[in-house]
Amino acid sequence: MLTAEIKGKKKITPAPQSAESTNPYESMLERFKVAAEKIGLDEETYNILKSPDRQYLVSLPVRMDDGKMKVFEGYRIIHSTGRGPSKGGIRYSMEVNLDEVKALAAWMTWKCAIADIPYGGAKGGITCDPSKMSVGELERLTRAYTVAMRDVIGVDKDIPAPDVSTGPREMAWIVDEYSKLKGEFTPGVVTGKPLDLGGSEGRVEATGRGVFVAAMEAMKKLKMNPKKSTAAIQGFGNVGSITAKYFEDAGIKVIAISDHTGAWLNPKGINIEKAIEYRNANKGTLQGFKDGKMISNEELLTLNADILAPCALENQIRRHNAANVKAKLIVEGANGPITAGADEVLQEKNIMVIPDILANGGGVTVSYFEWTQNRFGYYYPVEEIHKRADLSMTRAFNNVWKMAQKYKVSMRIAAYMFALEKVAKAVKARGCY
Ligand code: NAD
Repeated sequence: MLTAEIKGKKKITPAPQSAESTNPYESMLERFKVAAEKIGLDEETYNILKSPDRQYLVSLPVRMDDGKMKVFEGYRIIHSTGRGPSKGGIRYSMEVNLDEVKALAAWMTWKCAIADIPYGGAKGGITCDPSKMSVGELERLTRAYTVAMRDVIGVDKDIPAPDVSTGPREMAWIVDEYSKLKGEFTPGVVTGKPLDLGGSEGRVEATGRGVFVAAMEAMKKLKMNPKKSTAAIQGFGNVGSITAKYFEDAGIKVIAISDHTGAWLNPKGINIEKAIEYRNANKGTLQGFKDGKMISNEELLTLNADILAPCALENQIRRHNAANVKAKLIVEGANGPITAGADEVLQEKNIMVIPDILANGGGVTVSYFEWTQNRFGYYYPVEEIHKRADLSMTRAFNNVWKMAQKYKVSMRIAAYMFALEKVAKAVKARGCY
């Protein structure tokens, strides 16, 4: 058992290294504890940051199309407002539960610190299956959530954004409902809005573009030639498909893609433009896709590809399959796709992992640009957004890289250390009574 001595008097005891938890919050805490020990974080700040500041659980009664009423569970977890208003997406999925949202909220705190944007972290979610709901039902559910959270969210308080199964359409409903409640147009209450409603140029592609920029920085360090490299991408939603497109444009051959309906392998390279067109014309899924042989999602993760980009869900790479991963570089488009147990295996195998809190920070960076543009009422062209976001991503990557070199730790632990130091400084400066 690893026991960390934290400055102050008491000891912090992280989970045993051999245990493998698939609880995202425990996974977050395991890394948090290791990083806290490495930077010698004081016990008081440790205790403030280890649990969320505030947790909201609401019941949302919604009239369904068949006339019956159904009650959904909605969450909003504010992990920290130490560095500014809290920021984080809203997820619609049957898997949404308290510990998942708590982990995602904490990851947002660390992510905003690494990206050096003045926000704390939060996350929201509704336990529902959006694939089985009509547009009308989704709209009523989103508006009910907005009303329930009206005192939680706010331009200078807590600013939601899209996450799994939510997008510009849901953000538009939130702006509309919230603006009605406030009695004034309030676009800055969420980001990831449609362009016509105060959205920012470059937001839709921001996360995937950032994943690509981080991967390119890592490839420089690993002396990998993009034009001679191959990639496998899990998940073909916003993050996965856009990451794939940027990879393809840079000459990286994307040999496998997947979504919840299956995975497809084409050693000659999949035409990503056509795959996106296919998905868009096929209710958002790759089901029935023909450009490749069908394989399982499990097989995709252990393919002979140089780069692996998990861009779907948590806990995809665990101790049992980490041993079979053949990629040289893993870039986490998704939040929490690798368990803490698998981290150890990958590190032993000398596989570089660009952790989620660094790799997918491009999304929240452009969300921040969207929020500042809403406040100014002045909007930048896409070139300017891309330039600033790329610069921020490159800088963040190199900050974490330097930390990893200096302390001889993985990029994951370095990212947590970098974030913790930054958040701790703000929390300490604000003080406590
Ligand atoms: P999305 O809903 O647009 O896409 C999710 C994709 O994952 C879909 O293609 C879905 O079919 C696929 N998927 C679901 N279950 C799967 C499974 N078992 N195996 C393979 N594929 C599966 O969501 P998104 O916005 O692309 O988010 C994906 C991940 O990226 C999430 O972890 C999210 O938190 C993270 N993320 C998203 C953003 C953003 O800006 N959208 C920003 C940062 C992080």
